[in-house]
Amino acid sequence: MGTPDSTSTPFWGPDFAALCEADPEIAEVLLGELARQRGGLQLIAGENFTSSAVLAALGSTLANKYAEGYPGRRYYGGCAEVDRAEELAVRRARALFGAEHANVQPHSGTAANLAAYAAVLAPGDTILAMSLPHGGHLTHGSRVNFSGRWFHAVAYGVRESDERIDYDQVRDLARAHRPRLIVCGATAYPRLVDFAAFRRIADEVGAYLMVDAAHFIGLVAGDAVPSPIPFADIVTCTTHKVLRGPRGGLILCREELADRIDRAVFPFSQGGPHMHSVAAKAVALGEAAGAAYRVYARRVVANAQALAQGLQAEGMRAVSGGTDTHLALLDLRGIGVSGSDAERRCERAGITLNKNAIPFDPVKPMIASGIRVGTAAVTTQGMTETDMKEIALLIGRAAREDDESVLREVRAAVGDLVATHPAYPRR
Ligand code: PLP
Repeated sequence: MGTPDSTSTPFWGPDFAALCEADPEIAEVLLGELARQRGGLQLIAGENFTSSAVLAALGSTLANKYAEGYPGRRYYGGCAEVDRAEELAVRRARALFGAEHANVQPHSGTAANLAAYAAVLAPGDTILAMSLPHGGHLTHGSRVNFSGRWFHAVAYGVRESDERIDYDQVRDLARAHRPRLIVCGATAYPRLVDFAAFRRIADEVGAYLMVDAAHFIGLVAGDAVPSPIPFADIVTCTTHKVLRGPRGGLILCREELADRIDRAVFPFSQGGPHMHSVAAKAVALGEAAGAAYRVYARRVVANAQALAQGLQAEGMRAVSGGTDTHLALLDLRGIGVSGSDAERRCERAGITLNKNAIPFDPVKPMIASGIRVGTAAVTTQGMTETDMKEIALLIGRAAREDDESVLREVRAAVGDLVATHPAYPRR
């Protein structure tokens, strides 16, 4: 089949005029959110700006199709086209990450983790994973999540001295508790994870090793950080963070676990896959395989390092001393501001970031002593290390101030910056 020509091929896709007419209230929400994303600095570490190609796949008629099962083995007819989308997504994921098997159906990172656990664990089994207050995710054994309710979760953390993962503690806990699964990878850990060390510990106690690469899989795709694939039995990911795809999940594993993973996704934990999202994942994986994406991934890390440095100059302490990835965690106690106050003030100044607990945080998570910032979105906008210095100054100013006129000044400077590097430039 040749390349479709968008000017002569009839495509029924996003039609904003139709939405305005049919549902002006929702149309207004869409416009408001576009203006918010364009008009401010988006520094939430797990967010990014997808390409128009990804959005086109998401807004396509693939959203209508039921396709329970897998390509060639569906429970519904009419799946020839969506089969092609899923086969492309799987092929691209396997090639990009050098994985033996890929399942592209999980609706989210949480769904991917649920399926991964279901593939290798029975209720009541022990998992060893990073503690939530030290940067782990809810699905790593929190009591408020299925992972902490259905499994016996043991948590490791970081050392107080350098805020890096304490591999001696991981080994001691593994020896003491003999987990069936060890999980590494986190939500708020700015440093590289030593996958080889985790592999050695898992082998010593006969555990499976799962790497939750939700945050950094995009950096792996762009070769900006080491890959967990050679070390892990299972790698789970999200597709919407640095990877710049649609909201969704992805599981990579070795061939011997392929059947168990596939059955754990469907029929165990999900029904029909979201084929529009699967197609959009294929688009994003294709984009991530290109040379421009490799440059992007490296810039994301360089920008995070520049931003962390700039924020340190503003009196905020970078947890662990800096970052190797796309995110940094800052301790604001030195400037006498809580994470929640900083988040609120920055929001008023057009800077979106989140409060975050720091390791050994003396205050409650809803107050938090820190903030977390990520550079995936601002790098997609084309911002550079020089811009990061300015952003650090703006965050420093906004975080310290409750004064409306100061926050208005910061907001104006933010407006100038995003006007120079527009997200979704006007066509
Ligand atoms: N795993 C990690 C490490 C995450 O950071 C996240 C989300 O932030 C998830 C899993 C869950 O992803 P989702 O929000 O798509 O369920």
